[in-house]
Amino acid sequence: MADIIKLLPDHVANQIAAGEVVQRPASVVKELLENAIDAGATLVKLIVKDGGKALIQVVDNGLGMSETDARLSFERHATSKISSAQDLFNLQTKGFRGEALASIAAIAHVDMQTRVEGSEIGTHIKIEGSKIITQEAVATPKGTSISVKNLFFNIPARRNFLKSNQVELRHITDEFHRVALVHPNIEFHFYNNGSEIFNLPRAKHRQRISHVFGNKMTDRLVPVEEETEVVKISGFICKPEFAKKSRGEQFFFANSRFIKSPYLHHSVIAAFEGLIKKELYPGYFLYLEVDPSSIDINIHPTKTEVKFDDENTIYAILRSTIKHSLGQFNVAPALDFEH
Ligand code: ADP
Ligand code: MG
Repeated sequence: MADIIKLLPDHVANQIAAGEVVQRPASVVKELLENAIDAGATLVKLIVKDGGKALIQVVDNGLGMSETDARLSFERHATSKISSAQDLFNLQTKGFRGEALASIAAIAHVDMQTRVEGSEIGTHIKIEGSKIITQEAVATPKGTSISVKNLFFNIPARRNFLKSNQVELRHITDEFHRVALVHPNIEFHFYNNGSEIFNLPRAKHRQRISHVFGNKMTDRLVPVEEETEVVKISGFICKPEFAKKSRGEQFFFANSRFIKSPYLHHSVIAAFEGLIKKELYPGYFLYLEVDPSSIDINIHPTKTEVKFDDENTIYAILRSTIKHSLGQFNVAPALDFEH
């Protein structure tokens, strides 16, 4: 029998990878915001139209890219962030897989303008379905502006699966929150259909939380602080009387990255035991720092699931730290319990 196995062409491989990396407009927003931050931006603008279906644009004042790098950035497994497997154990950046731009460009129309400091002229590149349409010189500010249009233009099933503009905008806003809350030192502007919906000046963590969720937050936050050999914890919990029936104000960050952790969530709930009713969720904004070699973030392309080496220890430290904060700030039970 003849040999029948062949290597897939790049554009097909990219489209397959895109299926995992890009679920909806919010996934594009996450990747572009993370790239802007990795590029050292101090000012980031996010512009979306129609829940990201018509346009997602991120403008940053970061490092920018050379003419060649601008082209290479759309190749799969092309990254400036790691160069060896060893680097995976000491990640300092949000990106490292070199997949995001290749994936996005495989399933959308992408238009990027970028310029590095010291270069007089920038480069403007258009790419559609992994194919470079044009690349030419352009006068553009230092940094990068990247626009993504017609998302899923070549995957009708995905396009049809998208929810209403309002729902997609909510997912985008969630991603925006996750990034903005962990980078209070970066100025963010977020425009939806032409109007500015967030204007976040540089701030301290506490102020940033208030800027994102409203001034009502200021009086609700109780600081949390602890440093051990295994983990450094900082951030805030909301006083028990502000616990809510719905989720939405629960945030864990590990080494400056938003993570989902049902296990650590449980540890917070355990610390609040006896202070809130069982059906309520306490708000929290908790920033964990661990040795980069003791955390595996390479479990899924979106990197929100992580594996800590010392998960049980972190659970215990977190619980006692929060209990301590609740006690120290004289947070009394807010409710009478009918056990
Ligand atoms: P990763 O972030 O995992 O490296 P991406 O596909 O997101 O992969 O980006 C590929 C490369 O393109 C990055 O490693 C970086 O060198 C470059 N790049 C992407 N976005 C930007 C940006 N906004 N500013 C400067 N360089 C960027
Ligand atoms: Mg990236």
